[in-house]
Amino acid sequence: MNITPLRRLRRLRSSEVMRDLLRESHLLLNDLIHPIFIEEQIDQVVPISTLPGINRIPEGCLADEVKQLYALGIRYVMPFGISHTKDAQGSDTWNDNGLLARMVKTIKSAVPEMMVIPDICFCEYTDHGHCGVMQNNKVCNDITVENLVKQSVTAAKAGADMLAPSAMMDGQVKAIRLGLDAAGFQDVAILAHSAKFASSFYGPFRAAVDSELSGDRKGYQLVFWSSTTGHLTL
Ligand SMILES: [Zn+2]
Repeated sequence: MNITPLRRLRRLRSSEVMRDLLRESHLLLNDLIHPIFIEEQIDQVVPISTLPGINRIPEGCLADEVKQLYALGIRYVMPFGISHTKDAQGSDTWNDNGLLARMVKTIKSAVPEMMVIPDICFCEYTDHGHCGVMQNNKVCNDITVENLVKQSVTAAKAGADMLAPSAMMDGQVKAIRLGLDAAGFQDVAILAHSAKFASSFYGPFRAAVDSELSGDRKGYQLVFWSSTTGHLTL
């Protein structure tokens, strides 16, 4: 019996040039979104100890930072604000002159071609550090969703190209889509963080944005040992 295979798949792996020809996955600059941490009311960069090599940038340096990033070939940025104007609701996020709106305007006027995709949440802007409005020691989903819509329309009005809601509120994407459309921003896209886990992996991020959180987010983020709590029940 002739056991010599006719189908020798390794022929397709035989050289670098052959492997390149048949490659399915590529990781290019266009696949990456660059996060920027911008703090208001500071003059010097602040190193983020939990994210070595990453700094909080003074708001006044944002335009230059974005120009440098664009010169490096980066086309997408996700600004995170470190607010000094916190309150119980995070209302600075729907102020047309608040930090979020200012960041978006500054980036778009420095480099109009840069796609701006702001994080849409409240934890950097609330004095309690949670991702929404608190009622009876819980984040109230529906009021928070209403506020997310206000924040989203404000960001769109400032010039955001795409929005990245990360609050993990039920119904947030639909509400934001309807709110954007009703305000005339049909072309502003939504990049939803569809799965966020209540995990200690967010520790470095919390330090980066100076979140005031005490307690945890287990009531609204996914249980990290069982993602089924995120999609099995209605
Ligand atoms: Zn948040």
